[in-house]
Amino acid sequence: MGKEWVVEKHDSDKGFWAVFPGLCKGCGLCIEKCPVKCIAWSEGLGVYGTPRVGADMTKCIVCGICQMVCPDCAIRVEKYKQ
Ligand code: SF4
Ligand code: SF4
Repeated sequence: MGKEWVVEKHDSDKGFWAVFPGLCKGCGLCIEKCPVKCIAWSEGLGVYGTPRVGADMTKCIVCGICQMVCPDCAIRVEKYKQ
């Protein structure tokens, strides 16, 4: 049986930010590197039962840094074309 990839997606008018809970190991690197500090621990759990992250889309500038720094490719960010 194939693994089902759950994704938690957040939208804004600038783009979307998504986290794959099945990949997030809760290392906190994305929280540390976000230039506008809009990532925080969320209620949901990640792959090892540790807290996973969520982004505040009212502040997120969809820069993609969190996607770049995540060692486990747990974040996907896409900027909408204006
Ligand atoms: S950098 Fe990746 S694995 Fe680490 S907390 Fe952020 S999303 Fe999870
Ligand atoms: S895309 Fe940029 S601003 Fe948005 S959560 Fe990631 S690092 Fe922060």
